[in-house]
Amino acid sequence: MKIRKVGVLGCGLMGAGIAEVAARAGFETVVREVSEEVVEKGLEKLRGSLDKAVERGKLDAAERDKAWGRLRGVVDLGALAECDLVVEAIVENLDEKRKTFAALDAVVKEGALFASNTSSLTITQIAMATRRPDRFVGLHFFNPVPVMKLVEVVRTLLTSQEAYDAAIEVVRGFGKEPVTARDNSGFLVNRLLVPYLLDAVRAYEEGVGSIEDIDKAMQLGCGYPMGPFTLLDFVGLDTTYYIANIMFDEYREKRFAPPPLLKQMVLAGRLGRKSGRGFYEHSRK
Ligand code: NAD
Repeated sequence: MKIRKVGVLGCGLMGAGIAEVAARAGFETVVREVSEEVVEKGLEKLRGSLDKAVERGKLDAAERDKAWGRLRGVVDLGALAECDLVVEAIVENLDEKRKTFAALDAVVKEGALFASNTSSLTITQIAMATRRPDRFVGLHFFNPVPVMKLVEVVRTLLTSQEAYDAAIEVVRGFGKEPVTARDNSGFLVNRLLVPYLLDAVRAYEEGVGSIEDIDKAMQLGCGYPMGPFTLLDFVGLDTTYYIANIMFDEYREKRFAPPPLLKQMVLAGRLGRKSGRGFYEHSRK
């Protein structure tokens, strides 16, 4: 399983980052979106990120141009037929992911490896929508993808050794560090992080401390790069709420249950940085 050509489904926050990392690492990269308009918008964002890397001295202009030359945005799923690896980063919705992979399975060459970037769904339930669950892994990247070093590689009961080895190799090829996780909802990072974030909201609901002081406490007392409320605003309260619900459904444990305040904030449209207001006010670009 030699990976040369990479397909990415979705050019949103994560898909754009994954496509950027793949192209920068020298892979021919095709990124697929739902319409021409969304592809254009996604590629524009990706181009902005490449330019920023040049401005910050992280990438030289010639490398940027080469990476840009390796990228192609498409709407037609058939354009992914010759990919050796397809990484999916579409909405966190099981039906959408299963539907998309079933369609992909019919058009992409048989030997290709499939991967999902899901945060909280299990890989098994997505992989079973295809005829290649042995060539299916989780590749869970972190936001912002060009900056964050970690990728969780998730192997299911059905993932073949060959597919797992290829996944580890491609993660290293992307310049990232892999860790291996079993196919349990939330894998390693979200299994620990989500209860912590929810607990911070509960502590605030109970009046233990202010938002600012809880953030300051975890930053200065534990050396975390940012406090839980700053992180919640960064990740998106809606995303956190979806993930918590999926994990609660899976485990039926109170620590995964989204607290009422989180739900109210999502209903009220206070989603964090993306909506201009979450636990903090943010100026929108
Ligand atoms: P997003 O909303 O920014 O992007 C999703 C994109 O997928 C949208 O642009 C949408 O148009 C597109 N899309 C929907 N259906 C599609 C299809 N059938 N084919 C191609 N494109 C399609 O979402 P995101 O934050 O990038 O999250 C994507 C996935 O990554 C989710 O599964 C999420 O759980 C996971 N994830 C998110 C983060 C994070 O911090 N946001 C971190 C790790 C993993």
